[in-house]
Amino acid sequence: MEIIGWAGTSLVIIAYGPQIYHLWTERCAWGVSLWMWFIWLASSTLLLTYSWFRNETLFITVQAINILAIVATILLTRRSNQICPYHLGVTRSKSDE
Ligand SMILES: [Zn+2]
Repeated sequence: MEIIGWAGTSLVIIAYGPQIYHLWTERCAWGVSLWMWFIWLASSTLLLTYSWFRNETLFITVQAINILAIVATILLTRRSNQICPYHLGVTRSKSDE
């Protein structure tokens, strides 16, 4: 049964990929809500603490990965300084409506 937990952990890692890749390569943070990421960071910190006291290796791992990915997302969002061509098109087509 533990394999299900590790499969879920793998999906957590994969799920962050597209956002972090976009922030890293395009320096574009279009539509990213920093408030949401700060709340996720607080949530993961609390859950990591809880998992630590319960000595739950799987959940400690998941929350540690979450915290690393969330901090990376926040830092890359703050570094972002442009809108990529794709999102520039989205912005223009919305203002045409
Ligand atoms: Zn973009």
